[in-house]
Amino acid sequence: MITKWQAYTSLLQQQAYSLSGGLPLWIRLQPICSTLEVTEITRVPIHKGRGLLKIMETDVRILLPEMDLKAASQSRSSRTLGMYTPTERFVIAHELGHLILLRNGAPKPFGASEYWKLEEVCNDFARRLLINEEAINERLGRGDYSASSLLKICAGLALDAKVPWSAAAYRISESLPDTGFFRLEPKQYGLKIVVSTFANKDRTGWIGSGKKVRQKDPLYKVLFEIKGMPGAQGQIPANVFSDILDLNLNSDCAVYHDQYGIKVAIVKAIFQ
Ligand SMILES: [Zn+2]
Repeated sequence: MITKWQAYTSLLQQQAYSLSGGLPLWIRLQPICSTLEVTEITRVPIHKGRGLLKIMETDVRILLPEMDLKAASQSRSSRTLGMYTPTERFVIAHELGHLILLRNGAPKPFGASEYWKLEEVCNDFARRLLINEEAINERLGRGDYSASSLLKICAGLALDAKVPWSAAAYRISESLPDTGFFRLEPKQYGLKIVVSTFANKDRTGWIGSGKKVRQKDPLYKVLFEIKGMPGAQGQIPANVFSDILDLNLNSDCAVYHDQYGIKVAIVKAIFQ
């Protein structure tokens, strides 16, 4: 039996394909917004949530949190609407997903569980709208699925598609099921996994996000041993992950340090 979530996902995947399929990166959102009759995209101070869709009698507005813009740039010119940061582009695309669902009669979510499922459906739409199938096939078509090569592909894809790194990481993981990405941020106790594209066994959720990697953990030491290396990219023994996650990783890992933290790609992850 097809659940309503699968039905929504498949409807949005078709819509993403018809809106941006075949277009070269980066995908321009302005024409897509016109097609979907979005009248206005406005930056407003929103403290809670990432974006808002406002549907009124005569117009449809997408509200973006002003905070994100301040973080991205203080310059006046970037306040001009039409110039969006990768995060803002993702938020706009996500809200378009909500808009399409509402126009197709999807009811508002009931309770927290439905809310988060719906969020994931709209995130999936946003990723597919901004990184179309052609872009994925072109990047992954060469067949080099080593972890270090996938880290490079992910970074390049995020840059070219003008999307957050996490969006590119999820999109690649969805296309290569044995592959996953992590992003870790430095914390007082060590590191926190802030992005994890590893799906659980039945592929209904993501695992690892929010997990702590403490300074005494073998994983922490290994990640920082690589930091000292020139180029800051290297292979790590995959088994160090099994303490942190319920994953038995028996293959290839690569890690990259940048100013925001640490990015890790892993291929051939197998559940214990
Ligand atoms: Zn949403």
